[in-house]
Amino acid sequence: MHVYTQMRGHVDCDAFFASCHAAHNPSLRTKHIVVWDDIVIARSYSTKQYGITIGTPIREAKKLLPDETEYISPTYRLYRALSERFITLLKQHVDQCEQFSIDEAFFSPLNTHPDSAVQTHILRHLQATIKQIIGIPVSIGLGPTRILAKIFSDYKKPNGLCVWIEPHTVHTILKQLPIHAIPFIGTQTQKKLAWYCRSAYDLASLSYESVKQMLWHNWMTIRRELNGISAKSFQPHNNPRSISKSYSFNHHTTNQPTTLRHHLITNIQRARDQLVYQTMKTQKITIFFRTVWFDRWSAETILTHATQDRPTIIKACRTLFESIDRSSTYYRTTWVRFSLLEPIHKKQPSLFELPNTTQYKHTLNTTIAHLKEQYWTDIIWSASSY
Ligand SMILES: [Mg+2]
Repeated sequence: MHVYTQMRGHVDCDAFFASCHAAHNPSLRTKHIVVWDDIVIARSYSTKQYGITIGTPIREAKKLLPDETEYISPTYRLYRALSERFITLLKQHVDQCEQFSIDEAFFSPLNTHPDSAVQTHILRHLQATIKQIIGIPVSIGLGPTRILAKIFSDYKKPNGLCVWIEPHTVHTILKQLPIHAIPFIGTQTQKKLAWYCRSAYDLASLSYESVKQMLWHNWMTIRRELNGISAKSFQPHNNPRSISKSYSFNHHTTNQPTTLRHHLITNIQRARDQLVYQTMKTQKITIFFRTVWFDRWSAETILTHATQDRPTIIKACRTLFESIDRSSTYYRTTWVRFSLLEPIHKKQPSLFELPNTTQYKHTLNTTIAHLKEQYWTDIIWSASSY
């Protein structure tokens, strides 16, 4: 029987942000969890039955969810700490490991036994170990290439395990999968492909010439990987040159400023989450809108200094948003991009320097005292939470 010569795995944490809070505070494990900041940033799987999606305004979410739901503000330090522990633990159990985002990683297994039952047994043990030590449920996929492994890890979420390493099994699964199950495929590409392909298997079977004519260069890589030919090797983690997030309205194109603003803010929030996770700051912000006629309206700004401060970024985006003429047409996509990125270097604390928080508090209190003295008034209060 023909077997693929190599195996690639993909591990993806299930509902990572919500799972981090449940791992940190066991009393939350049986509850619905929503991580929010104006909008829903993340939620536990149990909230899906109420129609809660990422980006739902928090007021709407509260109307839909039961009273006992836990609403939690994001705690990036906790997410980063658990992500680092997750990757460190994974590295101890696999041959090579490449972190792909805060909660997912590709790996090559230590044991390359070609039997699915053996691999299933090994990976079930890895899944249980991560759950026991880090407290986070994960889904794992094992296949002949990275793209296939990523598709398989998503196949039975949450707590899923799919090991498909024989060509006939891989083909059977690909025939069942719709095109949108392939990672990195946008709605526009889906529309192009709909003329030729119904399933992931159809895309894998397209001729080289057809793919070359229709799609971008990176689709050749994806087509090769769908056919079990590894096209990408493991790479050390590099800092990104830019961070982009977009949202497409599909058939519900809109000219409503409120809807456009809402989706733009969701994009900004998602892009900023990644910025914080990568411990980077941005100096250049660009927003795009694509019209129903596929014209692109964009506006950009270069800040006086690089930042990851959410209010500063939102304020800059609001000014850009106001500068775009939105009255005359309908839009199909919103998009935000952070570029001119630079890393934030952690500063060594000094015994002779006040910690940042105390220093801010001290400056604020001194200013308030000064204003009270100057204007002889007691109406200025500090209402900030440090
Ligand atoms: Mg995940």
